[in-house]
Amino acid sequence: MAAQIERALEDRIIELRREIHRHPELGFEEHETAALVERELDALSVEHRRCAGTGVVATIHGANPGRNVALRADMDALPVAERTGLSFASAVEGKMHACGHDAHTAMLLGAAHVLTRRRTEFAGTVVLIFQPAEEGPGGALPMLQAGVLDRPKADAVAMLHVDSRLDVGTVGITAGGVSASTDELRLTVRGRGGHGAYPHTAVDAMPAAAALVLALQNIVARETDPLASAVVTIGTIAGGYRNNVIADCVTLSGTLRAHDETVREELARRVARIGSGIAAAYGVEIELELVPGYPPVINDEPLTRGFAAYLRLEGGLRVEEPPPTMGGEDFAYFAQHVPGVLIRLGVRSEAAQSFHPGHSPLFRIDEAALKYGTQTLVLFALAVTQDAI
Ligand SMILES: [Zn+2]
Ligand SMILES: [Zn+2]
Repeated sequence: MAAQIERALEDRIIELRREIHRHPELGFEEHETAALVERELDALSVEHRRCAGTGVVATIHGANPGRNVALRADMDALPVAERTGLSFASAVEGKMHACGHDAHTAMLLGAAHVLTRRRTEFAGTVVLIFQPAEEGPGGALPMLQAGVLDRPKADAVAMLHVDSRLDVGTVGITAGGVSASTDELRLTVRGRGGHGAYPHTAVDAMPAAAALVLALQNIVARETDPLASAVVTIGTIAGGYRNNVIADCVTLSGTLRAHDETVREELARRVARIGSGIAAAYGVEIELELVPGYPPVINDEPLTRGFAAYLRLEGGLRVEEPPPTMGGEDFAYFAQHVPGVLIRLGVRSEAAQSFHPGHSPLFRIDEAALKYGTQTLVLFALAVTQDAI
């Protein structure tokens, strides 16, 4: 049952990862990356199709009909200028695989290698999902709407994300909410402009905006259950003309984050309530626009616990339960549709200088982790299709 990755395949996975790393592409622009994925699948005689523009879906059929499983990797890079100095660093100015999606794609291709060789060992179908635009605006939802988990109907779905909090050789699997919802908040405060020397003849938007920023902090500090995770961040504030002019308009933007849908809805309601309260108190108008982001990823409890136990037994890897994060991940849509698990793959090591967080221009991974990632994906596919979890 064990799915150790042999040296030649490990080398191939590293080679693929470096090639993708050298040519980063942003969301829905993953033309070269999708073509590379297709070439590798063709070489393995794995059938595939395009989905959601630059997305690729591949299917590997087992020996008999049975349970179906989906494995997902994201392919997009970030608008970050790489400063790692690596020999295979980004060749595209201002773009970088700073979140490890190059590794995710290469590891899923590695799983395709193993699973095509081991077709006789599983029933059902393994669906490999190479998804665009995870960093935004989101490729998971259009792929889901195109039926990637419905034809064939997946019984479970998994993804890997590299994690520089965990050492190489470690896999992190935590049940329940593991990533946060990512709703965007846009606020416009409107008063009436005037001369800075005669405030009584104007309605100043500035102190209303300042009061709004502070009042919003009360939601997490005083209104949310301290044991429930929530974030209200105001990231930008802009307004005014010069020192002696009263601002007629101030705009603010921020992000709302939560691990469960009830808290998420409460945050939105409370922002609206505080907005109208501040508007009344300061005599201004406050316009609120809430742009819905990704939902939280909820790792299915039985699937997660079952796979963690299976992996400890079969994989010989160290399995930890890292705490959830307040980051976002559009795998959430897949995990809302069928039981899903977001698995974290340890890539931290001092030797490879892989300790910078994701999205940093210095972000690196220890490539020794790639074989463990492919092994984990293969074991998930085997466990689900063989009905072992
Ligand atoms: Zn990211
Ligand atoms: Zn990511």
